Amino acid sequence: MAEDSKSLNFIEHIIEEDLAAGFPQSQLRFRFPPEPNGYLHIGHASSICLNFGLGLRYNAGVNLRFDDTNPAKEEQEFVDAIKKDIEWLGFKWDTERYASDYFQVLYDWAIELIKKGKAYVDSQSSEEMASQKGTPTKVGVNSPYRNRTIAENLELFEGMKNGVYEEGQHVLRAKIDMSSSNMLMRDPIMYRVLKKAHHRTNTDWCIYPMYDWTHGESDYIEAVTHSLCTLEFAPHRELYDWFLDQVVEPERIRPKQREFARRNLSHTVVSKRKLLELVNNGIVNGWDDPRMPTISGMRRRGFTPEAIKSFVETIGIAKRENIVDVALLEFHVREHLNKIAPRIMAVLNPLKLVITNYPEDKEEWLLAENNPEDISAGSRKLPFSKELYIEKEDFREEANRKFFRLKLGGEVRLKNGYIIKAESCTKDENGNIIEVQCTYDPKSKSGSGSEESLRKVKGTLHWVSIKHAIEAEVRIYDRLFTDENPDGNKEKSFLEFVNPDSLKVVTGYIEPSIVDAEPEERFQFQRLGYFNVDKDSTKNKLVFNRTVTLRDTWAKIQQKA
Ligand code: ATP
Ligand code: MG
Repeated sequence: MAEDSKSLNFIEHIIEEDLAAGFPQSQLRFRFPPEPNGYLHIGHASSICLNFGLGLRYNAGVNLRFDDTNPAKEEQEFVDAIKKDIEWLGFKWDTERYASDYFQVLYDWAIELIKKGKAYVDSQSSEEMASQKGTPTKVGVNSPYRNRTIAENLELFEGMKNGVYEEGQHVLRAKIDMSSSNMLMRDPIMYRVLKKAHHRTNTDWCIYPMYDWTHGESDYIEAVTHSLCTLEFAPHRELYDWFLDQVVEPERIRPKQREFARRNLSHTVVSKRKLLELVNNGIVNGWDDPRMPTISGMRRRGFTPEAIKSFVETIGIAKRENIVDVALLEFHVREHLNKIAPRIMAVLNPLKLVITNYPEDKEEWLLAENNPEDISAGSRKLPFSKELYIEKEDFREEANRKFFRLKLGGEVRLKNGYIIKAESCTKDENGNIIEVQCTYDPKSKSGSGSEESLRKVKGTLHWVSIKHAIEAEVRIYDRLFTDENPDGNKEKSFLEFVNPDSLKVVTGYIEPSIVDAEPEERFQFQRLGYFNVDKDSTKNKLVFNRTVTLRDTWAKIQQKA
């Protein structure tokens, strides 16, 4: 029995019941079974955390099993990406398996089924078969080929395997019940001819097993005890069990399928097929575009594995589908980055500020704390000089008392630096403010301990020294879809809800300490948000992604609730 007392989810209850009924804990085994037809997304993260979490909880092995039975859609690129993502999340699989490892065993078992009169070769077109399927309220019609002799079935099936027949000419079907109330039990297809090379078995096979025939038998081969899948497979459970009945030997472990609800995230789509459409239509720049809800997209965006896992743990698993607000995911990202991201100064919308009483050639290196949340993060030196950039939004000629930033005649503190006072400003011919002239109080330097340094002023601004600043490309992301549930509209394609302004590129001016930052390194740009270095960065030009803003909308939503 598990040691800790955290409340159990319903899957854990099922396992606890099995253990209480005498099933040995040492024999528990789980699997995560992705189809390598795309990159993993945030929904998969739920399934990964569930399965690998159970492995950790019960000290049981978890297999990574690629469900690779459809060579038309599967590729090695996806296998590699999936492995990388699971490792990045911090999980270790016990063994790496492939459904394609079992093609021979599955074939041999299929022959056994034929010999027992439980499977037959159907030679109708898919349209004919569909027309005989019936409806949930109307029984189906038996195929005219249903009563082929065993010998004939064996010969045809072997011919299928040997490439004698073309795609669509014959299929192998399980002989179950064309009047079952479960449509999936109406003689489901077990094999089809597919003359496509497979990314692992190459051209060894030209027949490929269907999902239902493959999945339970693969679980059985691997001695998986609890085969967890999403709710849409609930009606498949009867078939899963029927297929197992045909092969299970009494002394061996019989896997059981249990279902949990798919996780959906607001303002995005979590379906590999739809994500592929975004990639193929050039709406995003690849599977790892930072706007994508893929694990690789979130990694590139600057999310941490810890944040993703604590989000997944918070939402837990459910028996019914719902949409989780993406703001909750962002909340977890912010929480973690607040603890680990070094603070730096960066200005994204610059306005020149000149300190008129500061000596022309002087420069100072001010001491700045790297992270007030983490003393061990230490401090660094920040260059200060006569000409600085501040954010345009931080200055107004005139403003009311609630404007705690800089206005003419007003004072603010420059973070880690001095108190300044705005004296005048210069405008271009269109009336836009292009420069602010200030004076500074030389005795007010932060941390100097002087009386002036302790003087309180209302506002504190971030800034950079112009001559020391590094120019970088900064990519500002917004939600990829304008609608909370882009997939939920029956009349419109999700593509119609794509946000045309989901990416804005600006030039940022950043303090020089980040000059050697490497891709994936994360920072807090003070007062602006969390940012990380993108892989598009070069030696001469850093590129940053905005991971999340600083503002915590989710906490506000929760406070109201
Ligand atoms: P997609 O529709 O995105 O292709 P899938 O279910 O076909 O999803 P698989 O590669 O077959 O993708 O999924 C691997 C495992 O992850 C399965 O057990 C599946 O049930 C689970 N899974 C997939 N999507 C989600 C989701 N949104 N929430 C929770 N689990 C999911
Ligand atoms: Mg699938």
